[in-house]
Amino acid sequence: MNDKALKVEWIPAKIKDKEGHRLMVILAAPGCSYAFGPAGGCTNCSFPSAFGLRHKVTTEEYEAQMHDALEKIPEDNDSPVEVDLYVSGSFLNPAEVPPDAQKSLVAMASRVPSVKMLTVETRPEFVSRMIIEGLVESMSSPARQEPPGLEFAIGLETADDTIRLQNINKGFTWAEFERSAQVLSGHDVSLMVYLLLKPLGTEERQAIEDIVQSAEKVFSMAHDLGLSTRIALEPCFVGPGTVLEQEFEQGRYQPPWLWSVVEATSRISKMGPVIVGLSDEGLNPKRSAYNCELCSLQVRQALEKFNATQDPALLHGLSCQCRTKWEKVTKTT
Ligand SMILES: [Zn+2]
Repeated sequence: MNDKALKVEWIPAKIKDKEGHRLMVILAAPGCSYAFGPAGGCTNCSFPSAFGLRHKVTTEEYEAQMHDALEKIPEDNDSPVEVDLYVSGSFLNPAEVPPDAQKSLVAMASRVPSVKMLTVETRPEFVSRMIIEGLVESMSSPARQEPPGLEFAIGLETADDTIRLQNINKGFTWAEFERSAQVLSGHDVSLMVYLLLKPLGTEERQAIEDIVQSAEKVFSMAHDLGLSTRIALEPCFVGPGTVLEQEFEQGRYQPPWLWSVVEATSRISKMGPVIVGLSDEGLNPKRSAYNCELCSLQVRQALEKFNATQDPALLHGLSCQCRTKWEKVTKTT
C-alpha cells in the first residue's frame, strides 16, 4: 500500500503577507513520466529517481496520504497555511495522478480552514482549460466563504530556449510555457515559476544574468496577462544519478556560489515576489550552492529569513573574506 506520504514538513513562511507556515508534502507517486520516457529527463533533476515509485498509485492511496499529511497541521494553529503538494513529476498528468485524485486532494486541503494556499507542480503540456476549471470547482466548498488560492508551479528554469532545451534537456519551449500561462490567466489561480540558477554549461556571471533576465521576462508576461506570479529561484545542486553529477565528478561543473544566489535574489526581489529553494539539505555541501566554511551557514540563514519575510535588507549587510574571490570570478564577463 502507498498510503503514507514520503515526507511531510511544517516550515515557517510568509503566507499572503502574514507570518504562517508551509506544509510541504512529498506524496508517494509514480514520478515524472518525462524523466522515465525516451527523452531521459532533465540533466539536473534527481527527484523522479529519488522519489518516483515507477508504479501506479490509486486515488484511495493518494487520499490516505493526504489525510495523514493534513493531520500534521497543529490543531490549535490559527496562522495561514500553504500546502505544497509534490509528486516528483506533474500533478496534472493523468498518468501520474488520476483526474479524480487530483480533484479529491485539492478538495481535502480546501476543507481545512487555515489552508489559504495550495500549490501543485506540473509541466506546461498538462495545463488545459478543462482540468483547471475542474480543480477550481473542487476547491469551492459551502463550508467556507473564500476557497484557498490555487497556484500552479511550472519549472521553466530559464527564459532562454537554447539553455532550456540543450543544456537542461527540458523538452519544451518558451512558447509552450506561455500557452500554459495564458490558460491559467483565464481563471482565478496563480503561477509560480521555477528558475534554475547555473544550469549545466553556464558560467557564474552568465548564470546570474540569465536568471535575472528570465525573471524580467516572466514578470513582464505575467503583467500582460494579469496573472499573479511569483518566482522560485532554485540554486542548482548536484543530485545523484544525474548527467550533472557526471560533469561534476569530471570537474566540469561547480554549483553556484551563495553570493550569486544573494545577488540574483536581491535583483529579482525588486521586480516581484521571489522565494529561494534551499531544500537540498542532506547533500555534501560541495554539491550545492556554497561560499566558504566561515559564512555559508550564515548566508543560508539570511536567505531563509528572506523567504519568511521578503525583506531584501536581510541580504544587504552580509560580508565575508570569500566575497572578493567571488567578485573576481564573476567580474570577467
Ligand atoms: Zn565566506
